[in-house]
Amino acid sequence: MSADRTPLLEVSDVRKTFAARRPLADSVRRRPGLRAVAVDGVSLTVGKGERLGLVGESGSGKTTLARSILRLIEPDSGSIRFSGQELVGASRGDLQSVRRRMQMVFQDPYSSLNPRMKVGTAIAEPALVHHVIPRNRAKDHVAELLDLVGLPASSADRYPRQLSGGQRQRVAIARALSVQPEFLIADEPVSALDVSIQAQILNLLDDLLERLGLGMIFIAHQLAVVRHVADRVAIMYLGRIVETGSTDQVFQDPQHPYTKALLAAAPVPDPTVVRTRSATAGDMPSPLRIPSGCRFRTRCDYAEERCQREDPPLLSITEGHHAACHVRPFDHER
Ligand code: SF4
Repeated sequence: MSADRTPLLEVSDVRKTFAARRPLADSVRRRPGLRAVAVDGVSLTVGKGERLGLVGESGSGKTTLARSILRLIEPDSGSIRFSGQELVGASRGDLQSVRRRMQMVFQDPYSSLNPRMKVGTAIAEPALVHHVIPRNRAKDHVAELLDLVGLPASSADRYPRQLSGGQRQRVAIARALSVQPEFLIADEPVSALDVSIQAQILNLLDDLLERLGLGMIFIAHQLAVVRHVADRVAIMYLGRIVETGSTDQVFQDPQHPYTKALLAAAPVPDPTVVRTRSATAGDMPSPLRIPSGCRFRTRCDYAEERCQREDPPLLSITEGHHAACHVRPFDHER
């Protein structure tokens, strides 16, 4: 995995909140409603051809961040630059070309593919809409993409329901690649698949990204899944990045107690291993009521008195490796 460190994607201090449904009594009394903080001041960069694994439990804000980057939702504040172009506040026209260059692969290929559309049409459609190919090239374009993702050309005449889950995810990847993007956001692309198929899709993605020189954000709730496909890893908890570093740094020298808990929950770096238990004891607090100080303190075995008062900033540990914790790792062993 080689990566040009020139930032292709630059996310700065992005914040996104959602209004919570108000109880009737509050509405009647015109009390202001609460807002759930889904993404709380996240900054990250991804270079050309670089792969970032974005990892955290369900509810950590990973998908909201991804959707903000793709401008499927509008962040409340912050900046998102792709290839130097600001996306926050950009008009629909300005976003048109960026939408082609950045594509998303969803968790569930069945719901992301139109069940009434044949596979060939589903793959050709975005390339025709974005004028990537002339109409008379569509059939060849589809055949090339099916070959690229390891499916026979005859798959073009089938419907999604006639394919297995793994085959459908291959079609979804072919559809994303159809418009010749520079960047993919893959949102839990293997978690809906049988364990035996997960490694095949991970290997396919790894191979395609290498051959096509694409960058990617790979979203997962299991750390082990990103180990073999990511150059760098960012760990997200309750809307914040709490640790980021190269894949080796994060796996071999984790600095944040949450990262350690995620690693302990999946000690075998094998994507075919399925773990179901929670990364840490207890549930993640509601994004409506984020704890004071360190937001991880309610589940942290190493919490001190200052953790209740002071919100730890993301500080440099070694070059390229950052963590947000008041307590140094050697103190975690006490
Ligand atoms: Fe735990 Fe305190 Fe570190 Fe937060 S700052 S992760 S509560 S030790």
